[in-house]
Amino acid sequence: SIGYAGAPADSEDADTLVMSADLALYAAKSAGKNRVGRYSPVLRARARERASALQELGLAIESRQFELYYQPQVRADTGRVEGFEALLRWNHPVRGVLVPHIFIDVAEETGLIVPLGLQVLNMACAEAATWPDDTYVTVNVSPVQLMSSGFGSAVNDALEASGLSGKRLQLEITETGAVEELAVAELDRLRATGIAIALDDFGTGYSSFESLKKLPLDILKIDRSFITELSEGDSAVVTSVVEVAKALGMQSLAEGVETADQLRLLLTAGCELVQGYYISRPMPAKEVAEYLSATAHSNGGYFIRSDNCAPLLTAGG
Ligand code: C2E
Ligand code: MG
Ligand code: MG
Repeated sequence: SIGYAGAPADSEDADTLVMSADLALYAAKSAGKNRVGRYSPVLRARARERASALQELGLAIESRQFELYYQPQVRADTGRVEGFEALLRWNHPVRGVLVPHIFIDVAEETGLIVPLGLQVLNMACAEAATWPDDTYVTVNVSPVQLMSSGFGSAVNDALEASGLSGKRLQLEITETGAVEELAVAELDRLRATGIAIALDDFGTGYSSFESLKKLPLDILKIDRSFITELSEGDSAVVTSVVEVAKALGMQSLAEGVETADQLRLLLTAGCELVQGYYISRPMPAKEVAEYLSATAHSNGGYFIRSDNCAPLLTAGG
């Protein structure tokens, strides 16, 4: 890989010239190696952005500006709340509450996802330990975090510190082309302690069916895009995914369920679990207990949060 810069066009002194060539080299390497790249001002702007994002995120992790929101996952036929997915929010001192798509990429690129993910695991386990014994928490794990050394023992530490049983923890992973053998072995070990593994965003990756065979999985999360497209007379894809999951011994969970119609079609397709705004939006940790006691009083049927303005469903759809 070669990176180069010119004088005086790119730089006016020797130090800056060398630094500029370095940035070009770095870009050439990260673009796939075996390349020649010339310096451009965009590279310097990007490096500056990255450095400040790194600093800001690092500080945010240290000063615990992150919080978890919880979104219920319910059994499709009865509406029973089985567990909650932990979804990360950054309470930014200036920009307000930030959702993951604003900061997860930077956290992954800089490696800060590892300490951040650790904080998430510990928070999620500690909070879930206060819930009823038959309610699980499911935590998103980024590929970088999954491949990082010591991930398995970090999970065990989080369980130990919180007193949460492994049976009440689920980890959500994504397809990343090749999930390395190493990670598969680690997931096998975690599963042996009772932890469940879910494949997130199924259907958006490029080697979907390959991953299904290779990965040790308990739950298949059907991506929201399939649910959005779901309509009367066109549920063939969802139905087949549910069947494949069943054949491989997994349960299916539909993400992003927003309407009663979608829920009805999913029930017909045989999908076991659902999650989405129709049932409830993600809520702060302090609202979980109240939500659970409200669902317990809905006579074993569906509990739809009144702020969703949706009609109540009875068991069986
Ligand atoms: P995901 O794991 O697929 O999570 C589902 C996302 O869909 C969440 O967005 C959730 O709020 C949103 N959602 C749920 N129901 C509905 C619905 O009915 N309609 C619509 N339009 N959206 C719905 P959120 O919280 O912004 O999270 C986005 C992504 O960020 C997550 O996607 C996950 O990949 C990532 N993420 C969230 N928390 C963490 C974390 O702690 N660690 C890591 N590594 N990634 C995280
Ligand atoms: Mg998820
Ligand atoms: Mg998803």
